[in-house]
Amino acid sequence: MNNSFTHPEFADHERVVFVNDKAAGLQAIIAVHNTQQGPAIGGCRMWPYESADAALTDVLRLSRGMTYKNALAGINSGGGKSVIIGDPQTDKSPTLFKAMGSAIESLGGRYIVAEDSGTSPADMAIMAESTSHVAGLEGEANSGDPSPSTALGVFLSICEAVSYRFCRSDLVGLRVHIQGLGKVGFGLAKLLVDSGAIVVASDINENNCRRASDELSIGIVSNDELLTGHCDVFAPCALGGVLNEWSIPTLKTTVIAGAANNQLLTQEDDRRLADAGILYCPDYLINAGGVVDVYQRIHGGTQVDIDAGVAAIAARLKSVLTEADSRGISPEKVAQERAEKLISGPKNDSVSTVAA
Ligand code: NAD
Repeated sequence: MNNSFTHPEFADHERVVFVNDKAAGLQAIIAVHNTQQGPAIGGCRMWPYESADAALTDVLRLSRGMTYKNALAGINSGGGKSVIIGDPQTDKSPTLFKAMGSAIESLGGRYIVAEDSGTSPADMAIMAESTSHVAGLEGEANSGDPSPSTALGVFLSICEAVSYRFCRSDLVGLRVHIQGLGKVGFGLAKLLVDSGAIVVASDINENNCRRASDELSIGIVSNDELLTGHCDVFAPCALGGVLNEWSIPTLKTTVIAGAANNQLLTQEDDRRLADAGILYCPDYLINAGGVVDVYQRIHGGTQVDIDAGVAAIAARLKSVLTEADSRGISPEKVAQERAEKLISGPKNDSVSTVAA
C-alpha cells in the first residue's frame, strides 16, 4: 500500500485514520481533508473494496471532494469522508456500526458522519450510540435521509443545464439515461418521469431495476447500452470514475449531470468531455443537496431553509456555466477556482443559500 503522505490522492489531508477493530469485524478509514471552514461533514460509505489501497484512494478523493462541495454550497463546514470495507448486503451488524461510532468519537468532533452509498439512517442511529458527531438521524419531522434533497438538487440542475444548452424550459420528451437506481437515482428518475422526460436506466442490482421498472415504468438496459446509447442527458448516480478515456469516446449525450461523486477519473477527462462537445456539470457543485439538508438540520434550519439551499444549487450552476462560456474554460475549472478561493478565504459568518 502507498504511504498516505505520498499517495497520489493525498492532497494535503489533515488526518487519515485507519480503524482496525478485530472484535467488531471493522476495517475502515476516516479521512479529514480540511477543517478551515468548520468541522468536516461527509458521508460514510460501505463498499466491498477489492483492496485496502482501493479504499484509501476512494476515501481520499471523496474527502477532498467534500471540501470543495461544502465550500461551494456556502456552508460552514470542512470536508471529510469515511469508508467501511465490507459488503452492505451481508456484513452489517450493530457491533460494527457501534465500533465505527467510537472511532468517529475519538476525533473529537473534527468529523461529522452522515449516510452515504451502502449506509442508511438506521446505521447512523446505531453509530449515534457511541458518538454525538452524527447527522442524518431520523427525527419526528423527517426520515433523516438526505438523498431526496440530493435528487432534487440534481433534478433542478438538469433543468438548468437543459435550459442553458437546449434553450427550453421543460423536459417533456427529453431522453435521460441514469446509471444507478439507488436512493438518489430512483428519486431522480421519479422527478424526471413526473416532468415528462423519457428515462432509461441501468443498475447492477436486479431488485432496484425491478422496483424502478414496476413503480416508474422506466426502461432498463445494461450498463453498456446505457453508456453507448443516444440520450440528451446522462446522469451518473452510481459510483465514481465513470467518465474516463475509455467511456468518453462512446458517449452519445449532450449534457452530463448526475449525483455520483468523482465522476471524472482524472482531470484529463474534463478536457476530453469539452473536446467532445459535452456539457459536464461538476458533480460536487450539483450533488450538494444532501449536505445542505444535513447541515441545516444540525443547525436548526427548517424545510424552507433546506429548499432555499437546494434551489440555490441550480442558480449557482447557471452562474458557473455563464462564466465558463465567457472565459472559454470548462465549468469544472470555474467551479474548482471558486471552491479554492472560498476554502482559503475567511470563514462564512452565516449559512448562505444565495448563488455565489
Ligand atoms: P446507493 O448505494 O443507494 O445507490 C447506488 C446504486 O448504484 C445502487 O443501486 C448500486 O447497485 C448501483 N451501482 C453500483 N455500481 C454500479 C455500476 N457499476 N453500474 C450500475 N449501477 C451501479 O447510493 P446513493 O445514495 O443513491 O448515491 C449514489 C451516488 O451519489 C454515490 O456516488 C454517492 O456517493 C453520491 N451522492 C449521494 C448523496 C446522497 O444524499 N445519498 C449525496 C451526494 C452524492
